Amino acid sequence: MRMPEGKLIITAAVCGSAPTKADNPAVPYTPEEIAQESLRAWRAGAAVVHIHVRNPVTGAPAFEQSLFAEVVGRLRSESDLTINLTTSGLHLQGPDAESLRLMPLELEPDMCSLDVGSLNFRGGRVFINPETWVERAALEMRRAGIKPEIEVFDLGHMRQALATAERRVFAPPLYFQLCLGIPWGVEGTIEALMDMRRRLPSDCRWSALGRGADQLPINTATILLGGHVRVGFEDNIYLSRGVPARSNADFVERIVALARILGREVASCSDAREILGLPPPRLAGGTPSGTGGVGG
Ligand code: ZN
Repeated sequence: MRMPEGKLIITAAVCGSAPTKADNPAVPYTPEEIAQESLRAWRAGAAVVHIHVRNPVTGAPAFEQSLFAEVVGRLRSESDLTINLTTSGLHLQGPDAESLRLMPLELEPDMCSLDVGSLNFRGGRVFINPETWVERAALEMRRAGIKPEIEVFDLGHMRQALATAERRVFAPPLYFQLCLGIPWGVEGTIEALMDMRRRLPSDCRWSALGRGADQLPINTATILLGGHVRVGFEDNIYLSRGVPARSNADFVERIVALARILGREVASCSDAREILGLPPPRLAGGTPSGTGGVGG
């Protein structure tokens, strides 16, 4: 098998909404902790961070604009990271939930996650993403110049994403995040990864994640297949069986080492922006930066 050409973008999903400090004490809760974990991942080689916010005291999932704003402000002033804010708003309820989920767009991130398709979670919870909301979110992101990270958890979601793309609501190049191993989406196997990849449009950019113990095998296969990878506490809190990661940086460092072994160069922040078709970073100071994330 020939190695694919092209630099590897590493995304760090530093906290998600589920893992707690009881699971792993290094899981960040406060905006400062979330920013510091993001910066550690950046220094280790991540070019993109995917951000959720948490109640700073209890760690419960949160969605306050002030919490997102503090994280974004800290990252903009200290790094040239590409900032990807979540719009999943999993815990939000009520008639305003659909609008509230799009609030992070007001903070002018580079990207936002866009979950395409609904999904059954364990324990009876359902993650609801109706076609109408997906299209509205895509249009609002396009209007705001924010790139959607099209998250798909199953093959049916791929169909929905491709049908949505046909209505030209996504600005090219399309960027997919293939989410594997989340119950009850597609399983975290190489066969499932290959199946999803085969359905991707030929000119898109794509990344993949595996949950828990599926993380490293899915990361490895994705590097070999020419995709980009996501790691971090949102998907996995263990570096290996029974060994909690000390930081998101542990996962990033492992991918950097793996990429080196497999002969794939890691993308700096400016490389990542070029690959994803993003403009220069919106820095707090207002001046674009060309410095890379690797070692930076
Ligand atoms: Zn997320």
